Amino acid sequence: MAEKSEKIILLHQERKNAMAVPGLLEAPSGRVDDALGRPLHDLRISVTDRCNFRCVYCMPKEVFDKDYAYLPHNSLLSFEEITRVASIFIAHGVEKIRLTGGEPLLRKDLERLIGMLAALPTPSGRPLDLTLTTNGSLLARKARALKDAGLNRVTVSLDALDDAIFKRMNDVDFAVADVLRGIDVAHEVGLGPIKVNMVVKAGMNDAQILPMARYFKDTPYILRFIEYMDVGASNGWNMAEVIPSAEVVAKISAEMPLVAIDPNYTGETASRWRYADGSGEVGMISSVTQSFCKDCSRARLSTEGQLYTCLFATRGHDLRGLLRDGRSDAEIAGAVAHLWRQRADRYSDTRTQNTNTSDIEPGLKRVEMSYIGG
Ligand code: SF4
Repeated sequence: MAEKSEKIILLHQERKNAMAVPGLLEAPSGRVDDALGRPLHDLRISVTDRCNFRCVYCMPKEVFDKDYAYLPHNSLLSFEEITRVASIFIAHGVEKIRLTGGEPLLRKDLERLIGMLAALPTPSGRPLDLTLTTNGSLLARKARALKDAGLNRVTVSLDALDDAIFKRMNDVDFAVADVLRGIDVAHEVGLGPIKVNMVVKAGMNDAQILPMARYFKDTPYILRFIEYMDVGASNGWNMAEVIPSAEVVAKISAEMPLVAIDPNYTGETASRWRYADGSGEVGMISSVTQSFCKDCSRARLSTEGQLYTCLFATRGHDLRGLLRDGRSDAEIAGAVAHLWRQRADRYSDTRTQNTNTSDIEPGLKRVEMSYIGG
């Protein structure tokens, strides 16, 4: 009987782009702006490609099935490598680090990494804003240790309150009640303000918009509705399945009036709304219908040390190669600054219904969100 071969899914382009180290190294610190004047401010670090959910918009089960082969451990950046990279980015102005995955809480001893990152000083002297995005499946158990290690806040993905619809969205048998308990425990230990992200897909969970809004109103949690996006190359995205945020606002406001409020800071991904009766806040992340590339200050590091300058990128840049080639911090900082200065990504601003196929170079495809985090 033929040997069952492991299924290899191309999460990103095999052809890794070596990062150019400038001949003339500049001071490895200070603000760096990209080609559109956007500063390097946020770094999202994927600490694992593993996940215990199979959300249809990210890791659809039919693609990431039981034969799917996760990345070998020795290809992942070690905690020491991640911390070194983080310190180089912080020197160049990063003030916010978000840990993502896959599901980051699946990475063993994650608390140790959080402790190493939380100890990193910033040039401004302000504490690093250290956050994490999770599907909440392990949160109730781990919240205390994450907080004690130095994590500031968590964002929890929750696409429905109804167990059957929740299961339809993430394709695993996991109770909504356990995620809700994780959110409450995280709140109790001080990992707030907690944001709850709901990806809305027409025909799948849009009937949950009002139940979710009612549930999280009058709570300290900030519910954010995310427009379904054409991330990666596996989720079969179609514009017809996108519910524009304007419709979500109108639907909620008809029952629970909302008023628009100002962003917390430039580059915030969500537009903010407060209930007119003062009983809470919701957010809209509208990458498809109200794109926000003009202030995008986010870089993304994959769990294998590939650097991406956009969630919808088709090419990564091999930062791990520099780390493992024994390059100095100054050389790596120079390479990062050099790359960022050339950055002109604004995919969402230019997306149309046909962007899916037409604009991508033959042989290339968008990186999978499970590889670089949302
Ligand atoms: S599409 Fe790319 S450039 Fe635009 S906001 Fe998203 S990550 Fe930033």
